[in-house]
Amino acid sequence: MPSVSAHPDVMEKLVSLAKRRGFIFQSSEIYGGTGSVWDYGPLGVELKKNVKDRWWHAMVRARDDIEGLDAAILMHPRVWEASGHVAGFTDPLVDCRNCKRRFRADDPAIKGTPGAPDAQCPVCGSKGTLSEPRLFNLMFKTFMGPVEESASVVYLRPETAQGIFVNFLNVQQSTRQKIPFGIAQIGKAFRNEITPGNFIFRTREFEQMEMQFFVEPGTDEEHFEYWKAQRMEWHRALGLSPERLRYKPHEQLAHYARAAADIEFDFGGSLGFQEIEGIHNRSDFDLGRHQEYSGKKLEFFDQPNNRRFIPYVIETSVGADRTTLALLVNAYREEEVPGESEGRTVLGLAPSIAPIKAGVFPLVKKDGMPEIAQRIADDLRRAFPVFYDDGGAIGRRYRRQDEVGTPFGITVDGQSTQDGTVTVRDRDTLQQVRVAADQLRGYITERVTVT
Ligand code: ATP
Repeated sequence: MPSVSAHPDVMEKLVSLAKRRGFIFQSSEIYGGTGSVWDYGPLGVELKKNVKDRWWHAMVRARDDIEGLDAAILMHPRVWEASGHVAGFTDPLVDCRNCKRRFRADDPAIKGTPGAPDAQCPVCGSKGTLSEPRLFNLMFKTFMGPVEESASVVYLRPETAQGIFVNFLNVQQSTRQKIPFGIAQIGKAFRNEITPGNFIFRTREFEQMEMQFFVEPGTDEEHFEYWKAQRMEWHRALGLSPERLRYKPHEQLAHYARAAADIEFDFGGSLGFQEIEGIHNRSDFDLGRHQEYSGKKLEFFDQPNNRRFIPYVIETSVGADRTTLALLVNAYREEEVPGESEGRTVLGLAPSIAPIKAGVFPLVKKDGMPEIAQRIADDLRRAFPVFYDDGGAIGRRYRRQDEVGTPFGITVDGQSTQDGTVTVRDRDTLQQVRVAADQLRGYITERVTVT
Protein backbone atom coordinates (compact mmCIF):
# COMPACT_ATOMS: atom_id res chain seq x y z
CA MET A 1 0.00 0.00 0.00
CA PRO A 2 1.39 3.44 -0.86
CA SER A 3 2.05 5.79 2.04
CA VAL A 4 0.00 8.96 2.22
CA SER A 5 1.63 11.64 0.08
CA ALA A 6 2.84 15.04 1.21
CA HIS A 7 0.88 16.47 -1.72
CA PRO A 8 -2.85 17.08 -1.29
CA ASP A 9 -5.48 14.90 -2.93
CA VAL A 10 -6.88 17.04 -5.77
CA MET A 11 -8.65 14.26 -7.65
CA GLU A 12 -12.22 15.24 -6.78
CA LYS A 13 -11.58 18.87 -7.69
CA LEU A 14 -10.00 17.79 -10.97
CA VAL A 15 -12.90 15.54 -11.91
CA SER A 16 -15.23 18.49 -11.42
CA LEU A 17 -13.00 20.98 -13.26
CA ALA A 18 -12.47 18.49 -16.08
CA LYS A 19 -16.19 18.13 -16.61
CA ARG A 20 -17.09 21.81 -16.15
CA ARG A 21 -14.45 23.04 -18.56
CA GLY A 22 -14.62 20.29 -21.16
CA PHE A 23 -11.51 18.21 -20.52
CA ILE A 24 -13.00 14.83 -19.61
CA PHE A 25 -16.57 13.51 -19.37
CA GLN A 26 -17.88 10.22 -18.10
CA SER A 27 -18.65 7.96 -21.05
CA SER A 28 -22.37 7.64 -21.95
CA GLU A 29 -23.21 9.93 -19.06
CA ILE A 30 -26.85 10.47 -20.10
CA TYR A 31 -27.40 6.73 -19.67
CA GLY A 32 -25.87 6.73 -16.21
CA GLY A 33 -22.29 6.26 -17.38
CA THR A 34 -20.21 3.23 -18.32
CA GLY A 35 -17.88 1.73 -15.74
CA SER A 36 -14.45 3.29 -15.91
CA VAL A 37 -14.53 4.57 -19.45
CA TRP A 38 -14.06 8.29 -20.10
CA ASP A 39 -14.49 10.63 -23.05
CA TYR A 40 -12.13 13.50 -23.78
CA GLY A 41 -13.85 16.82 -24.45
CA PRO A 42 -12.55 19.76 -26.52
CA LEU A 43 -9.75 20.75 -24.14
CA GLY A 44 -8.90 17.20 -23.04
CA VAL A 45 -8.40 15.97 -26.57
CA GLU A 46 -5.95 18.83 -27.23
CA LEU A 47 -4.05 18.14 -24.02
CA LYS A 48 -3.76 14.40 -24.62
CA LYS A 49 -2.85 15.00 -28.26
CA ASN A 50 -0.03 17.30 -27.15
CA VAL A 51 1.26 14.54 -24.85
CA LYS A 52 1.15 11.99 -27.67
CA ASP A 53 2.78 14.39 -30.13
CA ARG A 54 5.59 15.06 -27.69
CA TRP A 55 6.17 11.33 -27.28
CA TRP A 56 6.02 10.69 -31.04
CA HIS A 57 8.44 13.50 -31.68
CA ALA A 58 10.93 12.37 -29.03
CA MET A 59 10.72 8.68 -29.89
CA VAL A 60 10.25 8.63 -33.68
CA ARG A 61 10.76 11.92 -35.51
CA ALA A 62 13.78 13.26 -33.66
CA ARG A 63 15.70 9.96 -34.02
CA ASP A 64 16.93 7.93 -36.93
CA ASP A 65 16.98 4.61 -35.06
CA ILE A 66 13.26 4.27 -34.25
CA GLU A 67 10.48 3.66 -36.76
CA GLY A 68 6.76 4.32 -36.28
CA LEU A 69 3.94 1.79 -36.62
CA ASP A 70 0.16 1.74 -36.32
CA ALA A 71 -0.93 -1.88 -35.99
CA ALA A 72 -4.57 -3.02 -35.86
CA ILE A 73 -6.33 -3.56 -32.54
CA LEU A 74 -7.71 -6.95 -33.63
CA MET A 75 -4.99 -9.55 -34.14
CA HIS A 76 -4.81 -13.26 -34.86
CA PRO A 77 -5.90 -15.10 -31.68
CA ARG A 78 -2.70 -17.17 -31.69
CA VAL A 79 -0.80 -13.94 -30.94
CA TRP A 80 -2.26 -13.95 -27.44
CA GLU A 81 -1.38 -17.60 -26.91
CA ALA A 82 2.21 -16.92 -27.91
CA SER A 83 2.42 -13.80 -25.76
CA GLY A 84 1.17 -15.68 -22.71
CA HIS A 85 -1.95 -13.53 -22.29
CA VAL A 86 -4.49 -16.33 -22.80
CA ALA A 87 -2.92 -18.42 -20.06
CA GLY A 88 -1.52 -15.80 -17.77
CA PHE A 89 -3.17 -12.37 -18.05
CA THR A 90 -5.42 -13.06 -15.11
CA ASP A 91 -6.46 -11.81 -11.70
CA PRO A 92 -7.74 -14.15 -8.94
CA LEU A 93 -11.39 -13.27 -8.22
CA VAL A 94 -14.05 -14.35 -5.74
CA ASP A 95 -17.85 -14.22 -6.22
CA CYS A 96 -20.49 -13.62 -3.57
CA ARG A 97 -23.25 -16.21 -4.03
CA ASN A 98 -25.69 -13.95 -2.24
CA CYS A 99 -25.34 -10.52 -3.94
CA LYS A 100 -23.56 -11.81 -7.08
CA ARG A 101 -20.81 -9.21 -6.78
CA ARG A 102 -17.25 -10.02 -7.79
CA PHE A 103 -14.07 -8.95 -5.99
CA ARG A 104 -10.35 -9.34 -6.35
CA ALA A 105 -9.27 -12.12 -3.98
CA ASP A 106 -6.78 -9.73 -2.35
CA ASP A 107 -9.36 -6.98 -1.82
CA PRO A 108 -8.51 -5.59 1.64
CA ALA A 109 -12.24 -5.05 2.35
CA ILE A 110 -12.81 -8.84 2.49
CA LYS A 111 -12.77 -10.17 6.06
CA GLY A 112 -11.65 -13.79 6.47
CA THR A 113 -10.52 -16.27 3.83
CA PRO A 114 -12.62 -16.48 0.66
CA GLY A 115 -14.10 -19.99 0.35
CA ALA A 116 -14.15 -20.48 4.14
CA PRO A 117 -17.31 -20.06 6.29
CA ASP A 118 -15.89 -17.06 8.17
CA ALA A 119 -15.35 -14.94 5.01
CA GLN A 120 -17.62 -11.95 4.82
CA CYS A 121 -18.82 -10.18 1.66
CA PRO A 122 -17.70 -6.53 1.76
CA VAL A 123 -20.92 -5.37 0.04
CA CYS A 124 -23.89 -7.38 1.37
CA GLY A 125 -22.17 -8.47 4.59
CA SER A 126 -23.31 -12.12 4.39
CA LYS A 127 -20.95 -14.74 5.77
CA GLY A 128 -19.73 -17.88 4.05
CA THR A 129 -21.03 -16.84 0.63
CA LEU A 130 -17.69 -15.95 -0.96
CA SER A 131 -16.35 -18.51 -3.44
CA GLU A 132 -12.79 -19.78 -3.57
CA PRO A 133 -10.59 -17.57 -5.77
CA ARG A 134 -10.85 -18.33 -9.50
CA LEU A 135 -8.64 -16.94 -12.22
CA PHE A 136 -10.33 -14.37 -14.44
CA ASN A 137 -8.81 -13.30 -17.75
CA LEU A 138 -8.64 -9.53 -18.24
CA MET A 139 -8.87 -9.60 -22.04
CA PHE A 140 -12.10 -8.50 -23.73
CA LYS A 141 -13.37 -11.16 -26.12
CA THR A 142 -15.42 -10.69 -29.23
CA PHE A 143 -16.17 -12.59 -32.44
CA MET A 144 -14.84 -12.02 -35.91
CA GLY A 145 -17.25 -12.70 -38.77
CA PRO A 146 -20.92 -13.59 -38.61
CA VAL A 147 -20.75 -16.72 -36.45
CA GLU A 148 -20.47 -16.53 -32.69
CA GLU A 149 -18.53 -19.71 -32.03
CA SER A 150 -15.27 -20.49 -30.30
CA ALA A 151 -13.37 -20.72 -33.59
CA SER A 152 -14.12 -17.07 -34.33
CA VAL A 153 -13.08 -15.60 -30.96
CA VAL A 154 -10.75 -12.62 -31.17
CA TYR A 155 -9.53 -10.31 -28.43
CA LEU A 156 -9.31 -6.57 -28.08
CA ARG A 157 -5.58 -6.11 -27.56
CA PRO A 158 -4.61 -5.61 -23.88
CA GLU A 159 -1.35 -3.92 -24.93
CA THR A 160 0.04 -2.48 -28.15
CA ALA A 161 3.41 -4.25 -27.91
CA GLN A 162 2.40 -7.45 -29.71
CA GLY A 163 1.62 -5.53 -32.92
CA ILE A 164 5.26 -4.45 -32.87
CA PHE A 165 6.70 -7.92 -32.28
CA VAL A 166 4.75 -9.55 -35.09
CA ASN A 167 5.83 -6.77 -37.48
CA PHE A 168 9.49 -6.85 -36.43
CA LEU A 169 10.78 -8.25 -39.71
CA ASN A 170 8.34 -6.25 -41.89
CA VAL A 171 9.64 -3.03 -40.42
CA GLN A 172 13.28 -4.06 -40.31
CA GLN A 173 13.38 -5.27 -43.90
CA SER A 174 11.35 -2.40 -45.35
CA THR A 175 13.44 0.27 -43.63
CA ARG A 176 16.77 -1.61 -43.74
CA GLN A 177 17.42 -0.67 -40.11
CA LYS A 178 20.30 -2.42 -38.40
CA ILE A 179 20.35 -3.60 -34.81
CA PRO A 180 20.10 -1.73 -32.49
CA PHE A 181 16.87 -0.03 -33.59
CA GLY A 182 13.36 0.41 -32.27
CA ILE A 183 9.70 0.41 -33.31
CA ALA A 184 7.19 2.72 -31.63
CA GLN A 185 3.44 3.01 -31.67
CA ILE A 186 0.58 4.77 -29.95
CA GLY A 187 -2.79 3.10 -29.72
CA LYS A 188 -5.76 1.92 -27.75
CA ALA A 189 -5.56 -1.01 -25.37
CA PHE A 190 -8.36 -2.70 -23.46
CA ARG A 191 -8.35 -4.48 -20.11
CA ASN A 192 -11.36 -5.73 -18.23
CA GLU A 193 -9.90 -4.35 -14.99
CA ILE A 194 -11.60 -5.60 -11.85
CA THR A 195 -10.77 -2.64 -9.68
CA PRO A 196 -10.64 0.32 -12.02
CA GLY A 197 -10.90 3.83 -10.68
CA ASN A 198 -9.25 7.03 -9.63
CA PHE A 199 -10.66 8.86 -12.63
CA ILE A 200 -8.53 8.13 -15.73
CA PHE A 201 -5.77 6.43 -13.71
CA ARG A 202 -7.05 2.90 -14.31
CA THR A 203 -9.68 2.50 -17.00
CA ARG A 204 -10.91 -0.34 -19.17
CA GLU A 205 -10.09 1.41 -22.44
CA PHE A 206 -6.93 3.47 -22.59
CA GLU A 207 -4.07 4.54 -24.82
CA GLN A 208 -0.54 3.27 -24.61
CA MET A 209 2.65 4.68 -26.08
CA GLU A 210 5.03 1.77 -26.43
CA MET A 211 8.47 1.34 -27.93
CA GLN A 212 10.43 -1.87 -28.40
CA PHE A 213 14.15 -1.45 -28.90
CA PHE A 214 15.82 -4.49 -30.50
CA VAL A 215 19.40 -5.04 -29.39
CA GLU A 216 22.16 -7.57 -29.58
CA PRO A 217 22.16 -10.01 -26.62
CA GLY A 218 24.89 -8.94 -24.22
CA THR A 219 24.32 -5.23 -24.86
CA ASP A 220 20.85 -5.27 -23.29
CA GLU A 221 21.90 -4.04 -19.87
CA GLU A 222 23.44 -0.83 -21.16
CA HIS A 223 20.41 -0.16 -23.38
CA PHE A 224 18.11 -0.74 -20.42
CA GLU A 225 19.98 1.87 -18.37
CA TYR A 226 19.98 4.29 -21.30
CA TRP A 227 16.20 4.05 -21.78
CA LYS A 228 15.51 4.36 -18.08
CA ALA A 229 17.37 7.68 -18.07
CA GLN A 230 15.84 8.90 -21.35
CA ARG A 231 12.30 8.24 -20.25
CA MET A 232 12.73 9.97 -16.90
CA GLU A 233 14.11 12.98 -18.75
CA TRP A 234 11.03 13.01 -21.02
CA HIS A 235 8.64 13.14 -18.06
CA ARG A 236 10.62 15.98 -16.51
CA ALA A 237 10.66 17.91 -19.77
CA LEU A 238 6.86 17.65 -19.89
CA GLY A 239 6.83 19.68 -16.70
CA LEU A 240 6.23 17.00 -14.06
CA SER A 241 7.97 18.14 -10.86
CA PRO A 242 11.22 16.22 -10.36
CA GLU A 243 10.42 15.62 -6.68
CA ARG A 244 7.16 13.90 -7.64
CA LEU A 245 8.97 11.42 -9.93
CA ARG A 246 11.00 8.39 -8.92
CA TYR A 247 12.19 5.00 -10.15
CA LYS A 248 10.89 1.83 -8.64
CA PRO A 249 12.87 -1.29 -9.50
CA HIS A 250 10.82 -4.49 -9.71
CA GLU A 251 11.76 -6.91 -6.97
CA GLN A 252 9.88 -9.81 -8.51
CA LEU A 253 10.56 -10.28 -12.19
CA ALA A 254 8.36 -12.07 -14.71
CA HIS A 255 10.06 -15.31 -15.75
CA TYR A 256 11.21 -13.87 -19.09
CA ALA A 257 12.32 -10.47 -17.77
CA ARG A 258 15.96 -9.75 -17.07
CA ALA A 259 15.30 -6.38 -15.45
CA ALA A 260 12.35 -4.05 -14.95
CA ALA A 261 11.77 -0.65 -13.41
CA ASP A 262 8.78 1.65 -13.19
CA ILE A 263 8.75 5.39 -13.32
CA GLU A 264 6.35 6.49 -10.61
CA PHE A 265 4.59 9.82 -10.11
CA ASP A 266 3.23 11.09 -6.81
CA PHE A 267 -0.50 11.59 -7.45
CA GLY A 268 -1.01 13.04 -3.95
CA GLY A 269 -3.36 12.03 -1.15
CA SER A 270 -3.69 8.33 -0.38
CA LEU A 271 -2.89 7.30 -3.96
CA GLY A 272 0.67 8.61 -3.59
CA PHE A 273 3.43 7.28 -5.84
CA GLN A 274 2.07 5.08 -8.66
CA GLU A 275 3.44 3.69 -11.90
CA ILE A 276 3.09 5.84 -15.01
CA GLU A 277 5.63 3.99 -17.17
CA GLY A 278 7.33 0.60 -17.21
CA ILE A 279 10.79 -0.06 -18.67
CA HIS A 280 11.55 -3.72 -19.21
CA ASN A 281 14.38 -5.87 -20.44
CA ARG A 282 12.34 -8.68 -22.02
CA SER A 283 15.22 -10.78 -23.38
CA ASP A 284 14.35 -12.73 -26.57
CA PHE A 285 11.16 -14.05 -25.00
CA ASP A 286 8.58 -12.36 -27.27
CA LEU A 287 10.28 -12.84 -30.63
CA GLY A 288 11.24 -16.37 -29.60
CA ARG A 289 7.66 -17.25 -28.71
CA HIS A 290 6.24 -15.76 -31.92
CA GLN A 291 8.84 -17.66 -33.90
CA GLU A 292 7.80 -20.86 -32.14
CA TYR A 293 4.02 -20.32 -32.47
CA SER A 294 4.00 -18.96 -36.03
CA GLY A 295 6.68 -21.26 -37.40
CA LYS A 296 8.25 -18.20 -39.10
CA LYS A 297 11.85 -17.18 -38.43
CA LEU A 298 12.10 -13.86 -36.61
CA GLU A 299 15.85 -13.54 -36.66
CA PHE A 300 17.99 -10.57 -37.53
CA PHE A 301 20.61 -11.22 -40.19
CA ASP A 302 23.89 -9.62 -39.23
CA GLN A 303 25.41 -9.38 -42.70
CA PRO A 304 28.99 -8.26 -41.91
CA ASN A 305 29.43 -11.17 -39.50
CA ASN A 306 27.25 -13.53 -41.49
CA ARG A 307 25.22 -14.70 -38.52
CA ARG A 308 21.58 -14.74 -37.45
CA PHE A 309 20.16 -14.17 -34.01
CA ILE A 310 16.95 -13.30 -32.17
CA PRO A 311 17.44 -9.82 -30.70
CA TYR A 312 16.76 -8.92 -27.11
CA VAL A 313 14.10 -6.31 -26.46
CA ILE A 314 14.13 -3.28 -24.21
CA GLU A 315 10.56 -2.01 -23.87
CA THR A 316 9.30 1.37 -22.71
CA SER A 317 5.57 1.43 -22.04
CA VAL A 318 3.69 4.52 -20.89
CA GLY A 319 0.00 5.36 -20.64
CA ALA A 320 -1.17 8.48 -22.48
CA ASP A 321 -4.15 8.84 -20.16
CA ARG A 322 -2.19 8.23 -16.99
CA THR A 323 0.43 10.77 -18.08
CA THR A 324 -2.36 13.25 -18.84
CA LEU A 325 -3.73 12.69 -15.32
CA ALA A 326 -0.27 13.16 -13.82
CA LEU A 327 0.06 16.46 -15.71
CA LEU A 328 -3.33 17.69 -14.47
CA VAL A 329 -2.55 16.70 -10.86
CA ASN A 330 0.91 18.27 -11.08
CA ALA A 331 -0.49 21.50 -12.58
CA TYR A 332 -3.49 22.09 -10.31
CA ARG A 333 -3.15 24.86 -7.76
CA GLU A 334 -5.36 27.30 -5.89
CA GLU A 335 -3.83 30.58 -4.84
CA GLU A 336 -4.48 34.03 -3.50
CA VAL A 337 -4.10 36.97 -5.83
CA PRO A 338 -2.24 39.95 -4.27
CA GLY A 339 -4.57 42.90 -3.84
CA GLU A 340 -7.71 40.92 -4.69
CA SER A 341 -10.27 39.31 -2.42
CA GLU A 342 -11.02 36.43 -4.78
CA GLY A 343 -8.39 33.73 -5.24
CA ARG A 344 -7.84 31.81 -8.44
CA THR A 345 -7.49 28.25 -9.64
CA VAL A 346 -4.62 27.70 -12.04
CA LEU A 347 -3.53 24.79 -14.17
CA GLY A 348 0.20 25.51 -14.36
CA LEU A 349 0.71 23.35 -17.47
CA ALA A 350 3.88 23.86 -19.50
CA PRO A 351 2.97 26.28 -22.33
CA SER A 352 3.96 23.67 -24.91
CA ILE A 353 1.30 21.21 -23.74
CA ALA A 354 -1.44 23.63 -22.67
CA PRO A 355 -4.56 23.04 -24.81
CA ILE A 356 -5.08 26.76 -25.56
CA LYS A 357 -2.00 28.92 -26.02
CA ALA A 358 -3.57 32.36 -25.69
CA GLY A 359 -6.82 34.05 -24.71
CA VAL A 360 -7.66 37.13 -26.78
CA PHE A 361 -9.80 39.80 -25.14
CA PRO A 362 -11.10 43.23 -26.07
CA LEU A 363 -11.00 45.27 -22.85
CA VAL A 364 -14.49 46.57 -23.57
CA LYS A 365 -17.03 45.70 -26.24
CA LYS A 366 -16.81 49.05 -28.08
CA ASP A 367 -14.51 51.64 -29.68
CA GLY A 368 -13.28 49.17 -32.31
CA MET A 369 -11.61 46.89 -29.75
CA PRO A 370 -13.62 43.74 -30.55
CA GLU A 371 -12.77 44.10 -34.26
CA ILE A 372 -9.03 44.39 -33.58
CA ALA A 373 -9.15 41.48 -31.11
CA GLN A 374 -11.06 39.30 -33.58
CA ARG A 375 -8.48 40.03 -36.26
CA ILE A 376 -5.66 39.10 -33.89
CA ALA A 377 -7.42 35.88 -32.85
CA ASP A 378 -8.02 34.89 -36.48
CA ASP A 379 -4.39 35.48 -37.33
CA LEU A 380 -3.00 33.58 -34.33
CA ARG A 381 -5.42 30.68 -34.77
CA ARG A 382 -3.60 29.68 -37.95
CA ALA A 383 -0.50 29.02 -35.85
CA PHE A 384 -1.90 27.62 -32.56
CA PRO A 385 -5.18 27.26 -30.62
CA VAL A 386 -6.52 30.53 -29.18
CA PHE A 387 -9.74 31.46 -27.44
CA TYR A 388 -11.58 34.71 -28.11
CA ASP A 389 -13.67 35.99 -25.21
CA ASP A 390 -15.48 39.32 -24.94
CA GLY A 391 -17.93 38.38 -22.17
CA GLY A 392 -17.81 39.86 -18.66
CA ALA A 393 -15.19 41.66 -16.59
CA ILE A 394 -11.61 41.28 -17.80
CA GLY A 395 -10.53 39.75 -14.46
CA ARG A 396 -13.15 37.03 -14.87
CA ARG A 397 -11.95 36.29 -18.38
CA TYR A 398 -8.36 35.95 -17.17
CA ARG A 399 -9.52 33.59 -14.40
CA ARG A 400 -11.38 31.37 -16.84
CA GLN A 401 -8.22 30.92 -18.89
CA ASP A 402 -6.01 30.43 -15.80
CA GLU A 403 -8.27 27.55 -14.80
CA VAL A 404 -7.65 25.70 -18.07
CA GLY A 405 -3.93 26.43 -18.18
CA THR A 406 -3.80 29.05 -20.97
CA PRO A 407 -0.32 30.56 -20.60
CA PHE A 408 -0.97 33.98 -22.20
CA GLY A 409 -3.76 36.54 -22.10
CA ILE A 410 -3.78 39.16 -24.86
CA THR A 411 -5.82 42.27 -24.22
CA VAL A 412 -6.77 44.93 -26.73
CA ASP A 413 -7.29 48.25 -24.93
CA GLY A 414 -7.63 51.94 -25.71
CA GLN A 415 -3.93 52.31 -26.45
CA SER A 416 -4.13 49.46 -28.99
CA THR A 417 -6.42 51.57 -31.16
CA GLN A 418 -3.79 54.34 -31.09
CA ASP A 419 -0.43 52.60 -31.45
CA GLY A 420 -1.16 49.00 -32.48
CA THR A 421 0.23 47.41 -29.30
CA VAL A 422 -1.59 45.04 -26.93
CA THR A 423 -0.88 43.76 -23.42
CA VAL A 424 0.30 40.20 -22.94
CA ARG A 425 -0.33 38.79 -19.47
CA ASP A 426 1.70 35.84 -18.21
CA ARG A 427 -0.48 33.24 -16.43
CA ASP A 428 2.10 32.46 -13.73
CA THR A 429 3.85 35.76 -12.97
CA LEU A 430 0.80 37.94 -13.76
CA GLN A 431 3.25 40.37 -15.36
CA GLN A 432 1.94 42.31 -18.33
CA VAL A 433 4.09 43.56 -21.19
CA ARG A 434 3.13 45.57 -24.25
CA VAL A 435 3.80 43.88 -27.57
CA ALA A 436 3.10 45.16 -31.08
CA ALA A 437 0.10 43.25 -32.47
CA ASP A 438 2.00 42.31 -35.62
CA GLN A 439 4.77 40.74 -33.48
CA LEU A 440 2.37 38.59 -31.44
CA ARG A 441 2.56 35.45 -33.49
CA GLY A 442 6.34 35.24 -33.14
CA TYR A 443 6.25 36.30 -29.49
CA ILE A 444 3.83 33.53 -28.45
CA THR A 445 5.22 30.88 -30.81
CA GLU A 446 8.69 31.31 -29.32
CA ARG A 447 7.29 30.73 -25.83
CA VAL A 448 5.07 27.72 -26.56
CA THR A 449 7.47 25.78 -28.78
CA VAL A 450 9.90 23.18 -27.48
CA THR A 451 13.23 23.38 -29.23
P1 ATP B 1 -0.77 -1.57 -13.33
O1 ATP B 1 0.14 -2.38 -12.43
O2 ATP B 1 -0.96 -0.14 -12.88
O3 ATP B 1 -2.04 -2.26 -13.72
P2 ATP B 1 0.74 -2.61 -15.44
O4 ATP B 1 2.04 -2.87 -14.79
O5 ATP B 1 -0.21 -3.70 -15.73
O6 ATP B 1 -0.01 -1.42 -14.68
P3 ATP B 1 1.77 -2.20 -18.02
O7 ATP B 1 1.16 -3.41 -18.58
O8 ATP B 1 3.25 -2.16 -17.77
O9 ATP B 1 0.98 -1.76 -16.74
O10 ATP B 1 1.32 -0.96 -18.92
C1 ATP B 1 2.16 0.15 -19.14
C2 ATP B 1 1.48 1.45 -18.85
O11 ATP B 1 0.17 1.49 -19.42
C3 ATP B 1 1.25 1.72 -17.36
O12 ATP B 1 2.42 2.27 -16.78
C4 ATP B 1 0.12 2.71 -17.41
O13 ATP B 1 0.62 4.03 -17.66
C5 ATP B 1 -0.70 2.27 -18.59
N1 ATP B 1 -1.83 1.44 -18.15
C6 ATP B 1 -1.85 0.12 -17.90
N2 ATP B 1 -3.08 -0.28 -17.53
C7 ATP B 1 -3.87 0.82 -17.55
C8 ATP B 1 -5.24 1.07 -17.29
N3 ATP B 1 -6.07 0.10 -16.94
N4 ATP B 1 -5.71 2.34 -17.42
C9 ATP B 1 -4.88 3.34 -17.81
N5 ATP B 1 -3.60 3.17 -18.07
C10 ATP B 1 -3.08 1.94 -17.96
